[in-house]
Parts: sequence; C-alpha cells; structure tokens
Amino acid sequence: MKIAVLPGDGIGPEIIAEALKVLRALGEAFEFEMAPVGGAGYDACGHPLPETTLRLAEAAEAVLFGSVGDWKYDTLPRELRPEQALLGLRKSLGLFANLRPAILYPELAGASTLRAEVVAGLDLLFVRELTGDIYFGTPRGRRVVKEGPFAGSAEAFDTMRYSEPEIRRIAHVAFQAARGRQHKLTSVDKANVLETSQFWRETVGAVGAEYPDVTLEHLYVDNAAMQLVRNPKQFDVLVTGNMFGDILSDEASMLTGSIGMLPSASLDAAHKGLYEPSHGSAPDIAGRGIANPLATILSAAMMLRYSFERAEQAARIENAVKKVLAKGLRTADIYENGSERVGTGAMGDAVVAAL
Ligand code: NAD
Repeated sequence: MKIAVLPGDGIGPEIIAEALKVLRALGEAFEFEMAPVGGAGYDACGHPLPETTLRLAEAAEAVLFGSVGDWKYDTLPRELRPEQALLGLRKSLGLFANLRPAILYPELAGASTLRAEVVAGLDLLFVRELTGDIYFGTPRGRRVVKEGPFAGSAEAFDTMRYSEPEIRRIAHVAFQAARGRQHKLTSVDKANVLETSQFWRETVGAVGAEYPDVTLEHLYVDNAAMQLVRNPKQFDVLVTGNMFGDILSDEASMLTGSIGMLPSASLDAAHKGLYEPSHGSAPDIAGRGIANPLATILSAAMMLRYSFERAEQAARIENAVKKVLAKGLRTADIYENGSERVGTGAMGDAVVAAL
C-alpha cells in the first residue's frame, strides 16, 4: 500500500506524525513517502505544489494530507499561496467525491451548540460532488442587461450545470457508502425550481434502481438545512451537488462542535483518495504540541476503508479513538472540566495503546 504523505504547514507535521504512529501500529505493509506541500513546498521548491510532490501523489494509491497555510505567506500572489496546492491536487487527481462524516461521540455532546439530546450519538455522512455544478459551469462573467426594467445596468452570472455521468458517479459513491452503513440515502436538491436539480433528482432515482436495499429519499435544500438542526439524527448518508454540499456539510460539521475531530476523504473514480482533516493548519497553535490529532487519525481510518478496503482496520482505529475519549483524555480544543488534558503526542500514544 503506497501512501504519499504530505504534512504541509502549521500543525500539519505534528498531526501527521501521530497518524503515522497509529498506522504503523497496525502492522500492515504500508510504504510511506513524504513530500513538501503548501508553504513548505514553496520554501523548498518555490511552488506550493512542486512537480515532484504532484508526481508522488499521482503514483501513490492514496494521499495522506496534513494542512496548508500560514500567515507568513499572505503576501504571495494567489497562484503561489499554500492553499493552491490542495486545489491543484484535487484537479490533477480527479477527486470528484468528497466524503465528510459528522460524528458526535457521546462523550463530546457538551461541545455542540445544540442541546445534547438532539446531537448525542450523531453519525451522518455527507457525500458532496466536488468538481462540477455552478462553481465550474461556463459561461460566467459580467454583461449589460439588454431588456426589462434593469436594461442598461450591469449584471453578473454563473452557470449551474451537471452532466448525467457526473451525477451518476457521485450517486454510486453515495449508494455504496449507504450500503456500508444504515442503508438510507437522502438526496438534496432544489428540484421545485432548478432544471439542474430536476435532472439530478431523476438521475439519482434511476441509479437507485440498482440499489434496492438502500432507501432513497429526496429533500429540498432549504428543508434539509432546517432538518439538520431540528433532528439531524434522522439522516444516515446525504448526497449533494457541489454548492449545496459546501454549505450543508459545514452546517453539519458544526453540529459536532469540535473541528479537531472531523476527518474527510476526496475520492476519484477508482477510489484513490486524498485524506485530510477538515480543519486548517492552525498557525496560532503550531509547534506547541497541543493540536488535536484525532481528525487526522480518523482520516487515516477513512483511507483504509475507502482506498484499501481494510474496513476492519479502519474500525479498529475508530474504536480506539472512542476508547480514548471514553477514558476522559482530551486535547485543549475539546477539554471539559473533569477530563484529563493531554498534548498531541500523548493523544496519539493513547490511541496506539487502545489499539
Ligand atoms: P483553522 O482550521 O486552521 O483554525 C481555526 C481555529 O481552530 C484555530 O483557533 C485553531 O487553533 C483551531 N484548530 C484547528 N485545528 C485544530 C486542531 N487539530 N486542534 C486544536 N485546535 C484546532 O482555520 P483558520 O485559522 O481559518 O486558517 C488557518 C490557515 O489554514 C489558513 O492559512 C487557511 O487558509 C488554512 N486552511 C487550510 C485548510 C486545508 O489545508 N485543508 C483548510 C482550512 C484552512
């Protein structure tokens, strides 16, 4: 199993070190190759995504990514900023499926802004299409309005579009994910207004015929936004286009209240993936050994599940994380009175011990 390891900037190297510790403890035949990315790539090679790093990522079966960005690169031109590395990797590797689980371990229910009984035990998975929709549609731009009450004024426009194959492939990812969970899929759209959404609904429905064991429901995006805070535990897997998923997956992640806990995966058609925590490089706490490594450790678990079909090993890691939380170990970001405060390294060690 060849894994490109790109630690990046800020807390990236610290949290990646803990994920590697946990992976090594599994005793599997992993080959790790490290390369600089983001600000570290710029410092080493003058570019946030150096050619050698991109080649390594292309040759590997999976990419384990820390985080990129630091205030010291804020004055660089946009194409040289660390964050460009991630966009470049997504584009070059064709990572169209973004998987973001929102899990709230019962022990952390107090960390949410919602009442504990609404969110305790929450376990849902967002499957967001990542390379289509209004973010990538053409034409786009500005022009002068020709007719009507606003004739002569400027207007800006973007184009929402999805092709059938793009919808079908993300729908397959979502149905398959639902199969490995509670067999329930909610497809989110705005089919009462948008042609693109009507097409999305029809296409997802047609793909659903291949998955009779999965219950499919369709929800309008405005209702989905409301249901997510009203009763989020009704959901198992949600599949969305790029823009609705962008907004709703952030809403869902905040239900859990703890950014240091949330992993993510971005997959291509062959389940090669880039795995990274949902949070950024946290330059405010970098180098102090207090960052929470659990999102990255859980991202490594997702890598085992989705890229290497090692669901059992993934579950072992996830259960080890649960055990450590149940024991009361907490990094500063999830600390509550009465729990035991630990640093980044001690948290990684505790997960290894629990394994
Ligand atoms: P951030 O997620 O880095 O940090 C937000 C807050 O959460 C900070 O107070 C930070 O200390 C805390 N935090 C984040 N992760 C944590 C962890 N594992 N443990 C404990 N606390 C944690 O977001 P930001 O401050 O807006 O951005 C910082 C940099 O990260 C920027 O350069 C931004 O562009 C970049 N960024 C990168 C990614 C990525 O690499 N995928 C994603 C988001 C932001």
